[in-house]
Amino acid sequence: MNKMRDYPLPDNEHDRLNQLESLRILDTLQEEAFNRITRIASHTLDMPIALVNFVGADQQWFKAKVGVDISQMPRDHGFCSHTICSNEILEINDATKDPRYADNPLVLGGPNVRFYAGAPLCVNNTYNLGTLSIIDTKPRSLSADERILLTDFAAMATELIELHQTTQRAIKAEERLIDAVETIPDGFVLFDKDDKLVMCNQRYKDIYSETAEYLLPGMLFSDMIRKGVECGQYPEAIGNEEAWIENRLERHRESNSTLEQQLPGDRWLRIQERRTSEGGMVGFRVDITQLKRQQRELSRLAWTDGLTNCLNRRRFVDLVNGEINRGQRSNTPGALILIDIDHFKKINDVFGHAAGDQVLVELVKRWNIELREYDQLARIGGEEFAILLPQCDDNGAELVVERLLKITSDQPIRVKGVDISITMSAGLIMFSYREDTVDTALARADEALYTAKRQGRNCYVTKAA
Ligand code: GH3
Ligand code: MG
Ligand code: MG
Repeated sequence: MNKMRDYPLPDNEHDRLNQLESLRILDTLQEEAFNRITRIASHTLDMPIALVNFVGADQQWFKAKVGVDISQMPRDHGFCSHTICSNEILEINDATKDPRYADNPLVLGGPNVRFYAGAPLCVNNTYNLGTLSIIDTKPRSLSADERILLTDFAAMATELIELHQTTQRAIKAEERLIDAVETIPDGFVLFDKDDKLVMCNQRYKDIYSETAEYLLPGMLFSDMIRKGVECGQYPEAIGNEEAWIENRLERHRESNSTLEQQLPGDRWLRIQERRTSEGGMVGFRVDITQLKRQQRELSRLAWTDGLTNCLNRRRFVDLVNGEINRGQRSNTPGALILIDIDHFKKINDVFGHAAGDQVLVELVKRWNIELREYDQLARIGGEEFAILLPQCDDNGAELVVERLLKITSDQPIRVKGVDISITMSAGLIMFSYREDTVDTALARADEALYTAKRQGRNCYVTKAA
């Protein structure tokens, strides 16, 4: 059976109901705050009944009430269905004389309504979601002052709803932000204008696992860095703590910086920091460990001789350049040895090119055993090698070259069951850091080597600048 609706609908009824629903007012609004308003309204206006209600599709819900004990009733039983249709106070002085309400159950029976005045709760100046209503059991009318008071009480109830709405929106916005920030695959961090931690995502904590437990909102960036250094979070800082911290803080103070940072376990990050409009700082941490390893491998390949695995000529030239620069600043001497295998053509002719290759590989292995960690051995031509001996005086350099001559010729090299005897010749020079360039140093060493060849091979010659 279709029930006839005997109340009007506001123009924006559909949107109004959506708004009511989206606020979820009926479930979540604080009842006590509304109760205070109805108590004051009842007392101030001397009304036995005062209530705040929200008008739904078929029902109305009483959010707060004085003098009645109902929490909801059908929408068509109330006076409020009319109140929410305009922005004015609806005042019924004697309901028994108003044809709209004369046969209303609330008028005919308890609570025996005679007087009704309701002010719509117009939220955001748009939707009348409910009313603040006052009721008496005897006919009466409101004075002008009482109407103002009723309007004020309704405004207070409306402000409560709007406050709730704003809070809900803020909570939702924060939930969305946190969800978005946690969805970012990289480390994310935000600092306020005083450089205090506002938030970071779980990925950020995973990256800085050594200090994750200290990453609480309010912590200063500088304290985070110091804590990280204390916990061994930054291998680059070890042994150099204060300078490293100072440098890191300086980069952080820039408004736009990109830097790479090493973490324990040879992990690498790219850090990007950008100033926010309020003077804070937002930071991203991208794991570039793989990229860094690939870069290193590419550099190694670009610097390495494919056959013998020692450095190639290009890298050696760079290192000699660096050594000359270093030598110009410090007073320590350094040496360069140029080596050429004797009669190598013959070895190829007799044993084959592949055997010749194997000989080169084995020689490099032998020589490497003799060299210090920071000496640099490079293959600079077919069977020509060069060694850079930084921080090495002439006596030391002569000892090295004598050892190399000895271990080259002492034992033949066995390739596929055949013993191949090898000798080498060498030119040795000490750098003259003030005059030398890579070219002059190599040319001088070459001259010395040539002299050694002429002197019968299997020996070395030194050449002064
Ligand atoms: P010398 O004592 O005067 O140095 O005589 P040599 O025969 O070694 O003469 P030289 O140094 O001029 O010749 C180098 C030879 O080394 C030429 C080439 O056949 C050989 N050679 C150069 N590069 C390679 C290589 O990568 N593998 C092999 N197996 N042989 C090479
Ligand atoms: Mg040669
Ligand atoms: Mg040779």
